[in-house]
Amino acid sequence: MGKKFKAMRGTHDLLPEDSQVWRRIETVFVDLCWRYGYGEIRVPVFEATELFERGTGFATDVVQKEMYTFPDKKGRSLSLRPEGTPSVIRAYLEHGLSRKAKVAKLYYMGPMFRYDKPGAGRYRQFHQLGIEVIGTPSPQADVEVIVLLWEYLKAIGLKDIGLRVNTLGCKECRERYSGVVRDFLEDRLDRLCEDCHDRFKRNPLRVLDCKVATCKEVIADAPEIGAVLDEECVSHFDEVQRYLGAAGVDFHVDSKLVRGLDYYTRTVFEVYHGATGVDSSLGGGGRYDELVRELGGPSTPAVGFSAGIERIVLALKAEEVAAGQHHLLDVYVASIADNSFDYAFDLAYELRKDFRVWLEYESRRPQKQLAAASKMGAAYTAIVGEDEVRNKTAVFKHMESGEQAEIRWDEAGSWLKKKLGGN
Ligand code: AMP
Repeated sequence: MGKKFKAMRGTHDLLPEDSQVWRRIETVFVDLCWRYGYGEIRVPVFEATELFERGTGFATDVVQKEMYTFPDKKGRSLSLRPEGTPSVIRAYLEHGLSRKAKVAKLYYMGPMFRYDKPGAGRYRQFHQLGIEVIGTPSPQADVEVIVLLWEYLKAIGLKDIGLRVNTLGCKECRERYSGVVRDFLEDRLDRLCEDCHDRFKRNPLRVLDCKVATCKEVIADAPEIGAVLDEECVSHFDEVQRYLGAAGVDFHVDSKLVRGLDYYTRTVFEVYHGATGVDSSLGGGGRYDELVRELGGPSTPAVGFSAGIERIVLALKAEEVAAGQHHLLDVYVASIADNSFDYAFDLAYELRKDFRVWLEYESRRPQKQLAAASKMGAAYTAIVGEDEVRNKTAVFKHMESGEQAEIRWDEAGSWLKKKLGGN
């Protein structure tokens, strides 16, 4: 036997039982985005490395430590995308989307790549879905983005979710605050973890959301941003909170919420799952009023979120939400006599006009076929033998209850539709 291959560490295959759940997670998202007036954008999975250095931020952990970067055959430095926003903004500028509408509202889905230490809910290839609203400073846009994420997670069945929001202020306020935090931390460096020493040098604000217990103690006394915010930033954040209240969304202000990407200004937010905890967020985002300019465009305010599908699946499992249809197949067609095979073939193709049908090509033994049907998760097995061929019928056996009924061929479709609720 030759070498056996395995999926690379931090990546995973999606098998049919799970992909049903994924499909639903995606469809509910697409449906909600349509209702909120967002159009889909699909961008490449690799880009010039510099796009992420400038976009995601040169000083971030993502760019410094986690990017899959490689030279192409012409020696250009490319990177697999660690997140979607820089690519979306690149495409927005490249295709002049600002000329098509004052505000661009886009959604995307797809794989992202980060060379992170794999663990529960942490992968090297993971999948995000997200939205961006580009071209407005309105706090109503911040709230629309947050509400869409919140409504989405509720729509797929999650109950135990929490929302935390914060403001980092505009560029000037943020810089001022960063200075205040740097001064505060400078005297306490000996009590910070190794990673935080590094963060302190690159972006002291990141120390604020370190999860290490000793760092948390230090951070508890850190100055809050409120003291350095200018009037406009205060009023923007007040408006965000007022509209969130009006939309009926439960939230709390967490003055230590910073998030890992450098481009956020003003509003930042995160939705977490009660069971999996604040440390492992389902999704989050915020306003990024400087990014479009940073990537070579005109000054353009924007806001967005991204959520991780793997994390959502874990949360659904923790809440035991039936996230998809249980049955992978509607009907397993089983021929049990030598002369019923052509009839089974015709029946299967007839039923396939409306149902998910498996036709067994080889086996004739009834018990074996029933066992196979139930293993495959079929709702019904349609059994055809000599009598059924003669009577132009099939015996439909419900796999869970064991109930069975002989149904005429020409009535089988409408009978099944009633039984399966039309799917
Ligand atoms: P971020 O792009 O860092 O703001 O992350 C947004 C969301 O993506 C997080 O809330 C997670 O749900 C998900 N996510 C980020 N990194 C990973 C990872 N390594 N594995 C799985 N999901 C991730």
